[in-house]
Amino acid sequence: MSNIVAIVGRPNVGKSTLYNRLTESRKAIVDDFSGVTRDRHYGASEWTNHEFTVVDTGGYVANSADVFEAAIREQVIIAIEEATAILFVVDVTTGITDLDDEIATLLRKGNKPVFVVVNKVDNTSQVSDASEFYSLGLGEIYTISSMTGSGTGELLDEVVKHF
Ligand code: GDP
Ligand code: MG
Repeated sequence: MSNIVAIVGRPNVGKSTLYNRLTESRKAIVDDFSGVTRDRHYGASEWTNHEFTVVDTGGYVANSADVFEAAIREQVIIAIEEATAILFVVDVTTGITDLDDEIATLLRKGNKPVFVVVNKVDNTSQVSDASEFYSLGLGEIYTISSMTGSGTGELLDEVVKHF
């Protein structure tokens, strides 16, 4: 069974940008089922000779705030069930939101390794802004820029230790 790395987080934090970076030049191996899997995309990736499957979540179809939150909650619960490790993506430019706090609460109850990935740290002057994300209560934080790729190697070095 392949190692699965699930990317979760609220909309617009950069989950799909990170997914594309981790799976670039590789064809998606599984795609587009019905129901909740409609909102999950699986792709192949590799780091330092460790092969793994990356899952992108999102693209929620919802007609109310409650349904929307429920959709995110469901994705997080599936990630806790199926993933070897979870990348919880947050956005340094917005800071912690209520939805981030709710996702963090769910992830703290799960028994899977969680990596707090502070995205959109495009230059070093933003690194200090990221320290507020320690208050999510999920341990170490990893500052990255999915746009430039900066920080993703350091993150993956730690993730593959859980395989
Ligand atoms: P998702 O909804 O979480 O999947 O987020 P997307 O990957 O669709 O990205 C949302 C927006 O954030 C897009 O406009 C991206 O170009 C932008 N974005 C993603 N990663 C970065 C980053 O590292 N730096 C900056 N400045 N913008 C980013
Ligand atoms: Mg997306």
